[in-house]
Amino acid sequence: MRFISEFRNPELARALISQIKRQSQKKARFMEFCGGHTVTIFRYGIRQALPPTLEMVSGPGCPVCVTAGADLDKAIALSQIPGVIITTFGDMLKVPGSSSSLEKAKAGGADVRLVYSTLDALRIADDNSGSSVVFLGIGFETTAPTVAASVLRAKEKNIKNYYVLSLHKLCPPAIRAILDSGEVRLDGLICPGHVSTVIGARPWEAVARDYHIPGVISGFEPLDILQAVSMLVAQVEKGEAGVEIAYRRGVRLEGNPEALKVMGQVFEAGPARWRGLGEIAGSGLKLRGEYQEFDAERAFDIVTEPAREPEGCLCGEILRGIKVPLDCSLFGKACTPEQPVGPCMVSSEGSCAAYYRYGGSLGG
Ligand code: SF4
Repeated sequence: MRFISEFRNPELARALISQIKRQSQKKARFMEFCGGHTVTIFRYGIRQALPPTLEMVSGPGCPVCVTAGADLDKAIALSQIPGVIITTFGDMLKVPGSSSSLEKAKAGGADVRLVYSTLDALRIADDNSGSSVVFLGIGFETTAPTVAASVLRAKEKNIKNYYVLSLHKLCPPAIRAILDSGEVRLDGLICPGHVSTVIGARPWEAVARDYHIPGVISGFEPLDILQAVSMLVAQVEKGEAGVEIAYRRGVRLEGNPEALKVMGQVFEAGPARWRGLGEIAGSGLKLRGEYQEFDAERAFDIVTEPAREPEGCLCGEILRGIKVPLDCSLFGKACTPEQPVGPCMVSSEGSCAAYYRYGGSLGG
């Protein structure tokens, strides 16, 4: 299949690995920000194929995983309000909040519906004028433009019973928070591919400049990742800190101006809570004043107890890159994809799920 099989070619992969081994003299630790990259790295055994000079750590790039417990509790509390229909993407259903999950709330009678797009959610609002339909806006810069477009559509169509609980997150402020914390030393970043299709390379260039750390925007196939690693190694060996786009088939330097325009029309940056990272200024998206009628936080009185993290779960540390799933005593025992204790085991892009599925014993 074009654009897939050619990026999984074993001969080319072996050649790239040999090239990386020849290139890499200095010790370096690279973080792949994105959960999609984490899955590829584990699925194809990329960590084990790299020379001992190179270490890969996973970052917080799984939107389900980084949704704070307090925000999940808010979504669950919303589902308990009579007349409210919650619409959400599937990954969110199983994520445990402090004492329940959306799946359990649904089993208990709450109206929680899985949708595949914001248009589905709008349709449900249109078909249920006597109910209030809340879409859970969870995701990075990749998702936010489509949610913004749904708000514009609701306004245009005069749909008065559609709301968004905006828990969107912006990626560059999170990577800055990790670098500011000093908890983990990083020598290079594999920057997220899908997010960068929207935001382009400029925000990463600012990170590279401010922290003197190279970055490469990568696609999601094994050759993409190996190419990105090779480009990072080349920069590390030369002491450079620039940003390169290895994912040219998806990313332009300036990103996607149309998507950015829609996103900026409806949302403005504000603080957001991240699991493991706490509140980060300017890392979330809030509805702008002229669209506040669609803001679920304003429309409903949402009452929650202080959030509690699942006991023994290390998701927070894993998302900061300072622990790996095998450090968690619950991994593969009390916590499995069938019975997840924390979000990193629920999401298909979560580190714990990737370790579990593709051989965690090799990954540490
Ligand atoms: S294995 Fe489960 S409990 Fe442990 S960190 Fe991962 S998600 Fe949390």
